[in-house]
Amino acid sequence: MILHIVPTPDPTLLGELRDHYGAVGFVTDDHHVLVLSSKVRAIEDRFLPIVQEQFVLDDDIQLASTRYRSKKREVRIGNIVIGGETRNTAFIAGPCSVESRAQIETVCERLVKEEIRVLRAGAFKPRTSPYVFQGLGHDGLQLLAEMRQKYGLAIVTEVRDATHVDAVIEVADVVQIGAKAMYDHGILRACGKSRKAVLLKRGFGSTVQELVQAAEFMLSAGNENVILCERGIRTFETKTRFTLDLCGVAYLKQHTNLPVVVDTSHAMGYRYGVPDLTRAATAMGVDGLLIESHPTPDQALSDAAQQIDLDTLSELVASVRKVAKAVDRKIV
Ligand code: PEP
Ligand code: MN
Repeated sequence: MILHIVPTPDPTLLGELRDHYGAVGFVTDDHHVLVLSSKVRAIEDRFLPIVQEQFVLDDDIQLASTRYRSKKREVRIGNIVIGGETRNTAFIAGPCSVESRAQIETVCERLVKEEIRVLRAGAFKPRTSPYVFQGLGHDGLQLLAEMRQKYGLAIVTEVRDATHVDAVIEVADVVQIGAKAMYDHGILRACGKSRKAVLLKRGFGSTVQELVQAAEFMLSAGNENVILCERGIRTFETKTRFTLDLCGVAYLKQHTNLPVVVDTSHAMGYRYGVPDLTRAATAMGVDGLLIESHPTPDQALSDAAQQIDLDTLSELVASVRKVAKAVDRKIV
């Protein structure tokens, strides 16, 4: 059950309403929104004076559902906007990790040349092993801040744990919550408190339902700028790193009001499949694409096997622009 409360509600009655039903969220935008347990079918009459509108939701998606809000939400990534009525597909590219000034500058120069406006690179890397490169941390963030300034690129970068979430929010245009952090409530709560755009990746062992519920933690805390990202799930298949769940993407497009981005690099795990998968995702009319690209992929300090080189990136963005046009969308 979702209630819209009049803009200047009676604070006592509002407090009672929240306590009485154990309301889980309180959002302020143009009005106040209170989300009650889905088991609540009707509220008591005494609360009616402060309630403007009521929505009863039968399913498990609340603020993110198209039943609650049929129009897609718009989310800003630097100077571009995705979602809403825009028909924009953001092309988000960059290396898995920021490794050095020379590496990241080389990537930025290529992005600018190709009119790609969003750089994604990790400074805090959540690696599977503690014995490998963990990212440049704060020094990496500093380099990204400089790239933002110098090249006018929007920055997407990842938060690994809640200890550095404020530093990441400060530098990023979009904070990435990685697949392994999808359930990290320290991060979800910190990002919910902020109004900074968030790219929430689906855990590779999580259902789309669980992904959307993680997004609800931020939406119900008042951050409406949430983008969902499919990046492959673990299946019985071992020849590819993960399995890209395009059925899940279709579900998210149909049933949620949030922009959807597809990360083909992590799903495939090998660079040879990335261009075809990216064109396929583009043809589905998604709101964004996330591609890992590196000047010398074989020497990359993380995710070396899947990163495409910069010439392949140039070819890919050119072909993706054509596919986008065919489905009446624009690569931005
Ligand atoms: C990444 O984006 O580089 C990354 C670590 O991805 P994921 O969280 O999807 O594994
Ligand atoms: Mn990576």
